Amino acid sequence: MTAAPDALRKICIVGGGTAGWIAAAIMAHHFRGKLFEIELIESDDIGTIGVGESTIPPFMELIAKLDINEQEFIRATQASFKLGIEFQDWSRKGERYFHPFGVIGQQIELSDFYQCWLKAKLSGHDSNLMDFAPAAVMAREGRFMLPFKARNTPVGGAAYALHVDAKRVARYLRTHAEARGVRRTEGIVVDAQLDGRGFVERLALKDGRELTADFFIDCSGFRALLIGKALGVGYEDWSEWLLCDRAIAAQTQNVGPPRPYTLAQAQDAGWRWRIPLQHRTGNGHVFSSAFMSDDEATRILMDQAEGELVAGPMVVPFKTGVRDQIWHKNVLSLGLSAGFIEPLESTAIHLIYRGMDFFFRYLPDRNCDPHLAAEYNRRMIADYREIRDFIILHYCTTQRDDTPFWRACRDMQVPDSLQERIALFRGNGALREGLDELFRPVSWWSVLEGMGLRPGAYHPLVDRIDEPPLLRALDQARGQLAELVRTLPTHQDFIDAHCRAELSGQ
Ligand code: FAD
Repeated sequence: MTAAPDALRKICIVGGGTAGWIAAAIMAHHFRGKLFEIELIESDDIGTIGVGESTIPPFMELIAKLDINEQEFIRATQASFKLGIEFQDWSRKGERYFHPFGVIGQQIELSDFYQCWLKAKLSGHDSNLMDFAPAAVMAREGRFMLPFKARNTPVGGAAYALHVDAKRVARYLRTHAEARGVRRTEGIVVDAQLDGRGFVERLALKDGRELTADFFIDCSGFRALLIGKALGVGYEDWSEWLLCDRAIAAQTQNVGPPRPYTLAQAQDAGWRWRIPLQHRTGNGHVFSSAFMSDDEATRILMDQAEGELVAGPMVVPFKTGVRDQIWHKNVLSLGLSAGFIEPLESTAIHLIYRGMDFFFRYLPDRNCDPHLAAEYNRRMIADYREIRDFIILHYCTTQRDDTPFWRACRDMQVPDSLQERIALFRGNGALREGLDELFRPVSWWSVLEGMGLRPGAYHPLVDRIDEPPLLRALDQARGQLAELVRTLPTHQDFIDAHCRAELSGQ
């Protein structure tokens, strides 16, 4: 069978960070060395951003989809398991909550667990919502097992992701992609020439070489060489809602066994992350430069980070928002060149493979029908907006008023889309569910409850269940889950038994 005359013949990826190598690995896998030639250009002199180490459960699907052995990947990237995120000091100083992966409880007589719990809670039941989330209970106890291996038990509904070493992930995926036919070129792109239609035609490299392709994937990071610089596509700025615009990142030695969750602890003008890997811990302080200097942010991070410094601190400036068009002409932007929402819920890497999924769905030929790009942009930008609203939720619902930053968060005018969701929820806990959204009810319940927003009433149908059996069912579920979790291996024991990495330096 011959290819259609206008079929793409060659795709060029510009950039070899997490975005570039995920794109290369997925395409190599998808096209099975047929269809198109794939070339990736990157520069060791420029390097990658080097952060981006906390993932979410769809990342495990990506690994499986690429036929990568999970245990081998964990060893190679010094990864640890992640069951969710612990938020400290967000609603008020001294308060904490957990955003777990997987389920919270199970439906009771066709009513959502959350609604049943709400009824119990409104009548004085002493439980916390997280007592019923298997991932949260495992995280609290520092225990881990693969939930799908215990499907019919109280921990069967948990889900997990990984904390990974970003540089090792790029290296791993590079080997994977090169073995499947992707060609890597070392070089610095200095210019992009456009043809009469405004399509990128060729790239000029610093050493005088030129590179041509039918389609380009811009993975050049915040530089946005093609989508921004060459094609001049604008950027929708979301900094009026998400005030943080810088991060300080540093790596330290582990001081104890890695905890199976990411820590996000609020600070005076932002928040601090702790991401434990097998061989070291990633630390960062995300903050707003309008309220804090780099020096102060660095001092705060270094005061709080445990363990001896291994690398950093380094300053990472960023601008929160999304491209007006993520795909324009024959350039698709992916990763940081497409947009960035601060890393609070670890969504950026997810948006990379989501972007590739949609690219395959709307795969163009050399003419790049603008309708395909328009539909792609509609879907992807909807994803970015949905995630944006979910992140803003963590800030705008704060009750903190102890610093100018938190007062600004509390008093901000939030996007209408989020305001409507919150108003709907306040009544009797209803959620507005979109099409194919990343954050599902469990996520919204966790953050809303964690931030202290509880509806005034529960769904009327829950009254089909009488109070005594409802309370009994909750007590039983809580007890069974806690009991089972106590029998599981610790996170460290699980790693040691199944996927311990050779401990080496950087
Ligand atoms: P980069 O890593 O910057 O790669 C850019 C590539 O382009 C490099 O290979 C570079 O050499 C190449 N390049 C640039 N210019 C040229 C040129 N002229 N010629 C040739 N090559 C060039 N995401 C998560 O999912 N979880 C997290 O916990 C998380 N934490 C983050 C924390 C911070 C502070 C920030 C800023 C981001 C975080 N992210 C996180 C996002 C994540 O880091 C990125 O989405 C991911 O690393 C992808 O980056 P990238 O590949 O787009 O860019």
